[in-house]
Amino acid sequence: MRTPAAPDRSRLRVLVVEDDDTIGRHLETGLRGHDFAPTWCRTGAGALAEAEQAPYEVLLLDLGLPDMDGLDVARQLRARLPDLLIVVLTARTDDIDIIAGLDAGADDYLVKPFSLTVLLARLRAHLRRHVVAMPAREPVQVGDLVVDITARRCALLGKDVPLRAKEFDLLAVLSERVGEAVSRETLMAEVWDENWFGSTKTLDVTLAGLRRRLTEAAQSQGRPARLPRITTLRGHGYRLERKPDPPD
Ligand code: CA
Repeated sequence: MRTPAAPDRSRLRVLVVEDDDTIGRHLETGLRGHDFAPTWCRTGAGALAEAEQAPYEVLLLDLGLPDMDGLDVARQLRARLPDLLIVVLTARTDDIDIIAGLDAGADDYLVKPFSLTVLLARLRAHLRRHVVAMPAREPVQVGDLVVDITARRCALLGKDVPLRAKEFDLLAVLSERVGEAVSRETLMAEVWDENWFGSTKTLDVTLAGLRRRLTEAAQSQGRPARLPRITTLRGHGYRLERKPDPPD
């Protein structure tokens, strides 16, 4: 039987088994930014050993591994851990491979290339039905701005701020780590997922748009509003400051 999760642990443990550096790093960064606690293994043997050490709720499993067939990893872990949510990540698109994956004990599969957004949506859907619940995300308040990630709402002094989808996503990632430096790589991976390794100019353009909309929202209030400052960290990324700017 699976070792029960410690009651005070709010993050779900995900074992990522992937030998591709780019995909592995992308998954690790993306999952960490979305309330999961990922551990990344590059081999099947490493994954089997790791699963002995710690209780995992989710297994993301590449089928083409350097040391063994991913299907064997799925079979062995399914036999040991009946409650484990197993999602197979595969470049194989033949039905026969997908059927083999499900027969080996996988709950679901994703065909590469897939986006982080789709993966997260699938995980949430499974976990809602699974034994474990996703931790709820409390709205984040900085100054007079409230960012409610679950409801996808951003309000200044109680009044909704109209943001474009990517501007909201960017603000959401920064809000989750208020006061912390967030690297360009993390922002690209979490907001733009599959395009994260491309040009990052889109990040600066979107951030400029976000700053502009927040300033406009503050100006249209008709009363002073304390707006959070987003500091540019040259050569690294951005930081949403805990302490808001004084009202104009
Ligand atoms: Ca592989």
